[in-house]
Amino acid sequence: MHKHAEIPYFVEVGEGVLDRVRVFVGKIEVERVVMLSGRTSYELAGRYVEEILPVMESYTLTNPQQEVRKLIAKLSYGDADCIVAVGGGRIIDSGKILASELNIPLVTVPTTASHDGMASPVASFRNGDVFSVFTKPPSAVIADTSIISRCPPRLIRAGFGDLISNITAVKDWKLAKEIDPTDYSEIAASIAVMPAEMALNKTPDLKGLVRGLIMSGVAMSIAGSSRPASGAEHKFSHSLDMLGIGRALHGEQVGIGTIIMEYFHEIAYEGDWERVKEAMEKFGCVTSLKELGITRDEAVIALMNAKKIRPSRYTILDHLNPTKEDFERAILVTGVI
Ligand SMILES: [Zn+2]
Repeated sequence: MHKHAEIPYFVEVGEGVLDRVRVFVGKIEVERVVMLSGRTSYELAGRYVEEILPVMESYTLTNPQQEVRKLIAKLSYGDADCIVAVGGGRIIDSGKILASELNIPLVTVPTTASHDGMASPVASFRNGDVFSVFTKPPSAVIADTSIISRCPPRLIRAGFGDLISNITAVKDWKLAKEIDPTDYSEIAASIAVMPAEMALNKTPDLKGLVRGLIMSGVAMSIAGSSRPASGAEHKFSHSLDMLGIGRALHGEQVGIGTIIMEYFHEIAYEGDWERVKEAMEKFGCVTSLKELGITRDEAVIALMNAKKIRPSRYTILDHLNPTKEDFERAILVTGVI
């Protein structure tokens, strides 16, 4: 665990805040910005950002994971002093890796809200059974809700699933604390759980959701790991992906995982899976595996396998050690079938 945390210190969320990117870039006095965007995000916001910032080079990435490696090599010898990443998860992840490698500040301009990556210090780059890389967090997040609201609604609903997952992630972390108290941060846990609890109590608007996802990212920076926002429900989603069953969005899989893990937390100690499911339904989230193209048997296999993912991260799955029949019952009782 680290002694102090770097967190984004310039955060703007709301309608029409895109312009504020200029304020931040002026504040840190950078002159040679490298901008990354995707094809759609370039049209949505990138072109405008290019006009208002001292953009030295601009790249539209189609295959970020591969292209970012080439960019690291290319820009290592240049004099870029800031990365601005305009886009969805993959573009922002590329920005994180690039900015960390070059050791320069990163500004994220999310055009979707499908998960909590916009402010987090984690890039989800799959490499064998490694699912994510820890990076520096962005220095600034400019989340213009009038832009984000134009992304497919399915993405925003997935974002709700990723936010709500903090409920079980933090419960898992508290269980782990009993075994290893040094890894636990009460501040990080509170920051992660607060917006998730709020979303359970009252359906958030887009601004509220985005703010929650940003807080999630900040919690991870404080913790120095993804712990406050990733527990057994994330292991389930990673397990689906690893087995080649994951056909849905990260936040969709994680959302259903949260209902299932909350069920187990309710058995073990405390929880209310019905409340989680209801909040998801109210927001329009998918709560059926079938709707995500996942059969019951596949889900059970993924759940059985989930414990093997990142075994050092203690969760409810280690605490209860559910059997195949327990997993089948969980799916049946919660009705996520
Ligand atoms: Zn997540």
